[in-house]
Amino acid sequence: MANVLIALGGNVGDVRATFQKAIANICGMTQAALLARSADYTTPPWGHEQQDSFINACIAIETPLDPHALLFVLHKIEKKFGRDRAKEQRWGPRTLDLDIIAYDDVRLDKPELTLPHPRLFERAFVLVPLMDIAPDRPIGGRTPREALAALSTEGIKRLEDRT
Ligand code: ADP
Ligand code: MG
Repeated sequence: MANVLIALGGNVGDVRATFQKAIANICGMTQAALLARSADYTTPPWGHEQQDSFINACIAIETPLDPHALLFVLHKIEKKFGRDRAKEQRWGPRTLDLDIIAYDDVRLDKPELTLPHPRLFERAFVLVPLMDIAPDRPIGGRTPREALAALSTEGIKRLEDRT
């Protein structure tokens, strides 16, 4: 079993409802147990800045799938929730983005799968939710707490739990 951190993001539709369903799908389709889930955060748009704010969250799961099999399933789930990679701009609006942040301590350097996620330490919108579930987990030699100390968290707001 591998211990995996996954980042969720989106800015089209009812993103929080999408997250709830996507998390259930991730666990079902990867035979995973959900170990932890962060709060949801609203975060300023990035990449193309003329777009709606994003919502971001992170989860920790335990799964028997290998990294590529897991990525394959995550792409299927993105598609199921309306994401069409052929039509979208890179870093533009999307219903659901699922990124593998870390897979145990595995390091991989392939374009289709880089582990740990290569842009993790530049992204406060990933590190802030990670602070809820894995603040002191070393990821590629640094912890979310250390990495976040160097970044601005301006505009990132924790959302109230939904019941
Ligand atoms: P981003 O997540 O940076 O906004 P995309 O979701 O469009 O961009 O992903 C672009 C490509 O990144 C995907 O086709 C995927 O194969 C690749 N990729 C590389 N490493 C990872 C990772 N750790 N998690 C998810 N996708 C990754
Ligand atoms: Mg992605």
